[in-house]
Amino acid sequence: MSKKVGIIGGGLGGLAIALLLARKGFNVYLFEKNKQLGGRANFIRDNFYFFDTGPSWLLMDDIFEYFFRILDKDFYRELNLIRLDPIFKIFFEDGEELLLKADINQNEQIFERLERGSFNKFKKHIELMEEAYFSVRDDFIFNEIKFSKFINGKLFKLITKFNPFQSLDSYLRKYFKSEKIIKILEFNSLFLGTSPQSTPAIFGMINYFLFKKGVYYPLGGIYQIVENLFKLGQELGVNMFVNSSVEQILIKNNKAFGILLSNGATFDFDLIVSNADLYHTEMELIQEDRYRSYKQEFWQRLKLSPSAFILYLGLRKEIQNITHHNFYFCDDWQKNFKQIFDYDRLPENPSFYVAVASKVDKDIVPMGHEQFFVLVPIAPNLKIDNEERSYFKEKIYRLIEDKMKIKGFKNLIDFEKIFTPDDFRSYYNAFRGTALGPIHTLHQTLFRPKNKSSKINNLYYVGSYVNPGIGMPMVIASAIITYKKILADLRC
Ligand SMILES: Cc1cc2nc3c(=O)[nH]c(=O)nc-3n(C[C@H](O)[C@H](O)[C@H](O)COP(=O)(O)OP(=O)(O)OC[C@H]3O[C@@H](n4cnc5c(N)ncnc54)[C@H](O)[C@@H]3O)c2cc1C
Repeated sequence: MSKKVGIIGGGLGGLAIALLLARKGFNVYLFEKNKQLGGRANFIRDNFYFFDTGPSWLLMDDIFEYFFRILDKDFYRELNLIRLDPIFKIFFEDGEELLLKADINQNEQIFERLERGSFNKFKKHIELMEEAYFSVRDDFIFNEIKFSKFINGKLFKLITKFNPFQSLDSYLRKYFKSEKIIKILEFNSLFLGTSPQSTPAIFGMINYFLFKKGVYYPLGGIYQIVENLFKLGQELGVNMFVNSSVEQILIKNNKAFGILLSNGATFDFDLIVSNADLYHTEMELIQEDRYRSYKQEFWQRLKLSPSAFILYLGLRKEIQNITHHNFYFCDDWQKNFKQIFDYDRLPENPSFYVAVASKVDKDIVPMGHEQFFVLVPIAPNLKIDNEERSYFKEKIYRLIEDKMKIKGFKNLIDFEKIFTPDDFRSYYNAFRGTALGPIHTLHQTLFRPKNKSSKINNLYYVGSYVNPGIGMPMVIASAIITYKKILADLRC
């Protein structure tokens, strides 16, 4: 008889492992506490506007392609993908605006104007980062990190060319003097929740995706990915329950035998996979300390990604001078980075990101309107009262008006919703309100929590807390790793 699996959480990680196991013939049950599947990759829709609430950058399409191939599906046929061009626009504090294009050669003028001779160095950087990606993908992204794999030929060759373990910031400073170029090439460390000073240089490989492989967008919104996984889940017979919060993992003699829902219902399973934030799983869903793989001290030491102050705004006018992905970068970059990791207040002079998907997808807004997703990274665990909330919101509106040159910005708003660290906690059981989970310092990349409990034989983990890490493609890869582990354990 087929094994019965319980999955806690219907984020991308939970959905992905559900599909893989169902395809292999497991009898899969998935429980999501919220009313919508998708976890942090979610959506808001009112009568007029559609917003993706979390991810807006679709990178590393090859990982999705690989995952869909295991399911006998073609990622590029399942979703209506477009490749974005321009890739992004940066508004600097001094008023300079830079528009980066998808054809790498079209960026030559920008680089040469900022620093003579930098364009060739930039192209070499992208080539090296492409090589870096393909040196690690198979052994360290599709598989759990094993130190024996460090002796692989490709990685060894790469290390002769640059030190992938130094910080991204110090690596870039060896080649570039212009602070603006450095910002263009290192801001994406925030995709990993980390500052450029603590991101290992190997993660510069995100630049390969930004500037060469491509930035994609599924028409209809990023949530189309979740919709697609849901549809495939139905086809494969996955039993998916929303509004179903798991309260306890039931354990006896080092074996998880079931789950208890908050409505009192219990379910028996042969094995369990948790996609919930690992702190929540380990410290709240597992009741007895002896069954926890990670103790309190581990959680105290863990470095978490910033949280976020997010504004979802509907605007009653089309906005010129912006593109799909936009950034405002303040001058004092170092101070801003310090303030988003460890600070007891909102940042004084924040940098922020504005996604305007309606620039390429007119169907998500009424004609002649626009929708803005404004994300301001802020320190995790902040408590923001109503007064601070409205003060900070007004500050961001003024910055958007001044720096992105949108006259009368505030008066254009006809839909507004704000999301803060408290919402991360209450919606997703996020540890200390972290937006992304444990950040990618070198240590937390090499020694990331494993995809299986070390104390309970049949309890597995999936999602951004475990290998390989943060972001949609990595979470999909985590499902592949956990899937392989389960099959190896069950010898099937
Ligand atoms: C604001 C923001 C912007 C981002 N931007 C990008 C981007 O541009 N590109 C990118 O690739 N990535 C981005 N990310 C990261 C990406 O969204 C996440 O890494 C990924 O979606 C996490 O998936 P997950 O399955 O690990 O976790 P989650 O999405 O958190 O899923 C876990 C699920 O478990 C559920 N759960 C928790 N506790 C219980 C319980 N007790 N019972 C039942 N269910 C429970 C939660 O409700 C949730 O649905 C962004 C994230 C955020 C927050």
